[in-house]
Amino acid sequence: MDIIENWFSERYSDYLQLSFRVRDQLISVKTDYQRIDVFDTYSFGRLLSIDGTVQLTDQDEYIYHEMITEVPYVYAKRKPQSALVIGGGDGGAALRLLKLGLKRIVNVEIDSQVVEVSRRFFPNLASSFDDPACHLVIGDGIKFVSETDEKFDLIVVDSTDPEGPAEGLFSANFYRSVKRVLSDGGIVVVQSGSPFYQPRALELASSGLREVFSNVKTYTAFIPTYPSGLWSFTMAGDEIMDAPLRSAQGRYFNSEVARGAFMLPEFVKQVIHKAER
Ligand code: SAM
Repeated sequence: MDIIENWFSERYSDYLQLSFRVRDQLISVKTDYQRIDVFDTYSFGRLLSIDGTVQLTDQDEYIYHEMITEVPYVYAKRKPQSALVIGGGDGGAALRLLKLGLKRIVNVEIDSQVVEVSRRFFPNLASSFDDPACHLVIGDGIKFVSETDEKFDLIVVDSTDPEGPAEGLFSANFYRSVKRVLSDGGIVVVQSGSPFYQPRALELASSGLREVFSNVKTYTAFIPTYPSGLWSFTMAGDEIMDAPLRSAQGRYFNSEVARGAFMLPEFVKQVIHKAER
């Protein structure tokens, strides 16, 4: 990450970066897990970065948060009533799940500082943690799923990329524990990275989930502030419907996107096929 003459840049490689002109840097904290920064940008409003990587911005967070919650919601065999969010300390995924009418949400975030920063700078997203239906747990999601006795209809892995504390969230061992706490007919969804710049994230998620679940489906969305814009999500379960069973409407998500998001470009299919071998 560079902050040069009021530009914040996320480095994609030694030769490429995406830069945002910033009015101000609102906070920078180094926690036990990572470095958290918030910038006030000219074109995307407030921007949350973790270890120099864009996590969300005011202007396009709705796309990521709708797509990680509403897609599995409409494809689940039984209407989801409960959800476990792993990561997601900004509160955005929990907020969408509350809007979908879920009755119980447990959100396990490893870094309490992400929650504190979100409460201060993204109060609308973090307001989900004040809802009586949402229970925030500060702890490691891997440990939580290996110990809890509760079952969930939907499990949303809203994590950082497969490095540092999130590395284990992309492993088959973790997905085995996830299966244990998934209700019958439940669905797990993971953010599986940029197929173009981070094929390893998609490969890991795809191959790990395939080891554990009979049905694994990748879909994509256009998220302007993430590397290359094209982002992947992978959902898995033992009973995923072939067509949506219910509707949900967002600013990005609609009934056409619910189907179209699964139409994958050839190079994305190749990343997934590589993971199948
Ligand atoms: N929308 C984001 C993205 O893909 O860029 C993800 C946002 S959310 C802020 C990711 C969160 O996952 C971070 O706050 C991080 O602390 C949390 N996290 C990483 N590893 C974790 C783990 N093992 N257990 C629980 N939370 C974890």
